[in-house]
Amino acid sequence: KGDPRLQAISEAIRVIPHFPKPGIMFQDITTLLLNHKVFKDTVDIFVDRYKDMGISVVAGIEARGFMFGPSVALAIGAKFVPLRKPGKLPGKVICEAYELEYGKDCLEMHVGAVEKGEKAVVIDDLVATGGTLSAAIKLIECMGAEVVECACVIGLPEVKGQSRLSGRPLYILVEPR
Ligand code: AMP
Repeated sequence: KGDPRLQAISEAIRVIPHFPKPGIMFQDITTLLLNHKVFKDTVDIFVDRYKDMGISVVAGIEARGFMFGPSVALAIGAKFVPLRKPGKLPGKVICEAYELEYGKDCLEMHVGAVEKGEKAVVIDDLVATGGTLSAAIKLIECMGAEVVECACVIGLPEVKGQSRLSGRPLYILVEPR
């Protein structure tokens, strides 16, 4: 931390109160994507962190993990694996359910997308409870690959997402303003 790029990243994220429902302070990273320098700095920070760690898989969580993950994957020489909402992936999938505030959801991954012994990083825009990331970890690790770390642009402080990540490290760039 203490990296001057982080302040600009934080300021580039727009906060929209009460979206998609009352009480939620929605952290909108689409405004960050509009600023080429800040977008590039965000990707570069992840690339610098993961380029020499022997990582061959970048897994991105639908939908906003798809906005950062592929750029990181290309720059570090890794494959990109999309983790999607149910019913979107056409091939044979494995599915992992996770708790939402109200009810359940599920993430799917194509069978064969990752192989035994591979090292992976999971990328999303934001971690709140950590439920989504922990489902991602289970999908990848049940294929015999290892999740080295989960990386998000924003981490909500009021939730202890880290405790749900089965001990996998969590790397976040900023907290909400
Ligand atoms: P969780 O599983 O509780 O860690 O929630 C993280 C997922 O929900 C991520 O895919 C986020 O994109 C989304 N999310 C949760 N809370 C917010 C928020 N306040 N602003 C934007 N996205 C959010």
